Amino acid sequence: MPIINPVVLNKEKIYETEESCLSLIGFRKTKRYEKIEVEYLDRNFKKQKKVFTGFTAQIIQHEMDHFEGIII
Ligand SMILES: [Zn+2]
Repeated sequence: MPIINPVVLNKEKIYETEESCLSLIGFRKTKRYEKIEVEYLDRNFKKQKKVFTGFTAQIIQHEMDHFEGIII
């Protein structure tokens, strides 16, 4: 599912976890939010707003960190 130009509007329930990445060997500790509300453009460049939780929310936060040059 493409998520274009995502912006996190709200985040709830911070927790500590460990992640890996295709750019890394092994795991690193990081902090993520259990629930995030994201505004983004869909594949038709239509603005959407959606709440993501759990592993999907974690993946979005991981990928959005890469936008800022953060690996983990
Ligand atoms: Zn990664």
